[in-house]
Amino acid sequence: YEGERIAKAIARAGIASRRDVEAMIAEGRITLNGRVLDTPAINVTDSDAITVDGEPLPTRERTRLWIFHKPRGLVTTARDPEGRQTVFEVMPEEMPRVVAIGRLDINTEGLLLLTNDGGLAKVIAHPDTGWLRRYRVRAFGDITQMELDQLRKGVTIDGMEYGPVEATLDRATGDNVWLTLGLREGKNREVKRILEHLGLSVNRLIRLSFGPFQLGDLEVGLTEEIKTKVL
Ligand code: URA
Repeated sequence: YEGERIAKAIARAGIASRRDVEAMIAEGRITLNGRVLDTPAINVTDSDAITVDGEPLPTRERTRLWIFHKPRGLVTTARDPEGRQTVFEVMPEEMPRVVAIGRLDINTEGLLLLTNDGGLAKVIAHPDTGWLRRYRVRAFGDITQMELDQLRKGVTIDGMEYGPVEATLDRATGDNVWLTLGLREGKNREVKRILEHLGLSVNRLIRLSFGPFQLGDLEVGLTEEIKTKVL
């Protein structure tokens, strides 16, 4: 069969549940290509014209969200002037057109949110949203208790205010420290800038969570749709 059952197509447009749509068909409220439909046992495609109570079916897709475990080495722009590979070029076949909600630097790994709703992307990425972004960071250098306290109060670098930053020192290995940082702003290169300010050089940066969304154990390079109703 081509297409999908008409009740499913109408339900997907967000009109009503599939069962309710079937009842609406029985009530003669649905037309297909200009004729009142009297059975749900019919398949439709995008080229069919459907009305519900005389109104054409909205074609807009419902809002969907995904998390992507971004590997190192991909840029988060739609097209890169230097021709580097973008996150959108490694999406699975069946993904609709999506945009990223905020950005991760080329060498940053971890949770990147994707959506098919450009308006939603702007709202969530806006600094006023204040969603916590939590990162696991490996940085070359040392950090003192005083510097950690400084981060928690917030820092100003070249006239730009950052913070307060939730900061924990997880462990110190040879020449590096591992930190967990939590920030609420989403400024450009904020983790690297803040740590650079303290004399540390970031060499691994993994985003663990963004607002209510967690990277969890999603494998590198994979995409997973968020099915729970969060918005
Ligand atoms: N901070 C950074 O410096 N880079 C990122 O990709 C995200 C936060």
